[in-house]
Amino acid sequence: ALKKHYPFENAPLAYAYDALEPYIDEKTMQLHHERHLKTYIDNLNSILKKYPQFQTLTLEQLIHTTRQVPEKDCIAIARNAGGVYNHQFFFNGMCPDGKKAPSGALAVDINRRFGSLNAFREKFTEMALSVFGSGYVWLFNGKQGLCLVTTANQETPVGVVMPLLSLDVWEHAYYLKHYNKRVDYINDWWNVVNWDLVEQKYGCSCVSLRGK
Ligand code: MN
Repeated sequence: ALKKHYPFENAPLAYAYDALEPYIDEKTMQLHHERHLKTYIDNLNSILKKYPQFQTLTLEQLIHTTRQVPEKDCIAIARNAGGVYNHQFFFNGMCPDGKKAPSGALAVDINRRFGSLNAFREKFTEMALSVFGSGYVWLFNGKQGLCLVTTANQETPVGVVMPLLSLDVWEHAYYLKHYNKRVDYINDWWNVVNWDLVEQKYGCSCVSLRGK
């Protein structure tokens, strides 16, 4: 099993780099995983080398724990841990040959909350287009039910809410294939959403929310 703490490793994706073609191209997936994510992992490991007291912490703990270290390192740890967490979450949220729509309790909840799957997709897309510069859009399940939120750069809602699905809208996620057309990328991305995993996360979030 993969270690959940320092030194973090860049685990292979669950699918090949070209598996999401023609929606997300092979070169983008390769660079995104081997360079962008890898850089966050390398940076995080290199900072944590100085702090043995943080070497057993998980990504979520590293993002949120208040610590008595120089502010510069605090910020760098949170940013790089966020970059690792957000990318792993985003990559896991995609798969080749997945189903095209959610089913079961999640589908019912989406219909109740947004009106229909199409209305949900439109709202999610609108939020993704509203991110100015770099960031993400997230679907999460909270006390108010299913909600959408955007985050800037490598900020992350994990630990505050339970995210179910995310979309990376940094330009590096789509520029090679879709150029500056973020909306074309988003429309393609809907074809590779890993709905089975989203449903699984939704189920866990419902159990967890009931317990509170
Ligand atoms: Mn990215």
